[in-house]
Amino acid sequence: MLRTCRVLYSQGGPSAGSWQPLNFDGGAFHLKGTGELTRALLVLRLCAWPPLVTHGLALQAWSRRLLGSRISGVLLRASLYGQFVAGETAEEVRSCVQQLKTLGLGPLLAVPTEEEPDSAAKTSEAWYEGNLSAMLRCVDLSRGLLDTPGPSGNNLMQLKMTALASTRLCKELTSWVRRPGASLELSPERLAEAMDSGQNLQVSCLNAEQNRHLQAALSRLHQVAQHAQAQHVRLLVDAEYTSLNPALSLLVATLALRWNRPGDGGPWVWNTYQAYLKNTYERLQRDVEAARRAGLTFGVKLVRGAYLDKERAVARLQGTEDPTQPDYEATSRSYSRCLELMLTQVSHHGPMCHLMVASHNEESVHQATKRMWELGIPLNGPVCFGQLLGMCDHISLALGQAGYAVYKSIPYGSLEEVIPYLIRRAQENRSVLQGARRERELLSQELRRRLLGGGLKVHH
Ligand SMILES: Cc1cc2nc3c(=O)[nH]c(=O)nc-3n(C[C@H](O)[C@H](O)[C@H](O)COP(=O)(O)OP(=O)(O)OC[C@H]3O[C@@H](n4cnc5c(N)ncnc54)[C@H](O)[C@@H]3O)c2cc1C
Repeated sequence: MLRTCRVLYSQGGPSAGSWQPLNFDGGAFHLKGTGELTRALLVLRLCAWPPLVTHGLALQAWSRRLLGSRISGVLLRASLYGQFVAGETAEEVRSCVQQLKTLGLGPLLAVPTEEEPDSAAKTSEAWYEGNLSAMLRCVDLSRGLLDTPGPSGNNLMQLKMTALASTRLCKELTSWVRRPGASLELSPERLAEAMDSGQNLQVSCLNAEQNRHLQAALSRLHQVAQHAQAQHVRLLVDAEYTSLNPALSLLVATLALRWNRPGDGGPWVWNTYQAYLKNTYERLQRDVEAARRAGLTFGVKLVRGAYLDKERAVARLQGTEDPTQPDYEATSRSYSRCLELMLTQVSHHGPMCHLMVASHNEESVHQATKRMWELGIPLNGPVCFGQLLGMCDHISLALGQAGYAVYKSIPYGSLEEVIPYLIRRAQENRSVLQGARRERELLSQELRRRLLGGGLKVHH
């Protein structure tokens, strides 16, 4: 059960004295029920146990065989699924979002889809069409979730491009985009024209089947973006592997030409920038400048990056240069520079530029809130924060209670759909889960306090 008492921390602004860092000391946990805190502690402890993450899928199959699918399902719902997933039905998602709203947090819905390149069913045109329907339903659900428009005036949802266009096509496009002189044939302008007209696009590097798939993917993207704008839902496109990202960025740039025009209340289509890649700062600088020159609005979800181990393994295997930063500190410096760049852009160009600081890192969040204060960026304006549902509530709650726009990334769907997705995410975010030590300590501290009868702690 969630308690709804709301404590307002006053952050002020340049005119209201000096900047005060937010307290991420777990004080905001008093808003949560003991059951929820206990589950969070148990699940985070389990996730810090490497064999569970490494062999998650095998363990799940084994528990289904041993306990039967009903009992194993009940256990998962009470643990992993209950902690990180909103539910299966629209009703369950609404109820989860309602609880978040009472805590000052907004929803960033995510449809968990996983292409399986070796499965004929999960790479067929029918599968991508099914994903299109799921995305359109997600737009409707996102729109219906808040009776009044969200903290920055609209709702947000995540969009995974490879749910609508195959990874095989994206790899092909990526290798073509990287060639010098390919830009004319594969320009966002040319793709946008094909998207509008629905006419058969012929790209010379693709065979007939791939050309048909590209045309169908453009039509799907068109439908999602058009519906999202009509429903006032901003689409935050996920970044994936470096073998796909240039193609994903090309498709985002194509959508941006149509849905990030000034005066439309945009940006409606945002891209994600991964600070762990060596070239991200320069790419962000180039893209923000290009959007400004073209008179387009520009939206950025800034993350550190989730696919570190795989990126390095692929580079080792192919004997190519590792595209990622050499160590954690270098990634954090890169994140900090990108953050500074985007906040300065927001302060100069206002609502033409939007930013989501998608991080669980306290230093990054402190940097963002401090610079927002120094630059006079309003708490509830074009800058917002994002964390995953079930992770780092001590940060999300403190931000939300202080009046910042904070969104929890919320996957939803059936147990069968979501658990493989969650386990893969946990493998990708292994270091984050193992590093959630501070969150576990804060949870234990709050639970100990409650059990020893400390009563309700009130923060001023
Ligand atoms: C709302 C939201 C949306 C997201 N969307 C995406 C997305 O579209 N694409 C995507 O890739 N990720 C996405 N992520 C995940 C994100 O990239 C990070 O994996 C996750 O947030 C952890 O980073 P952090 O800043 O929160 O925490 P921290 O614990 O401070 O940072 C951990 C991160 O640091 C980096 N790192 C760790 N060790 C090293 C090392 N030895 N060398 C170099 N770098 C290192 C890695 O990127 C690692 O994930 C999203 C996260 C959120 C909250």
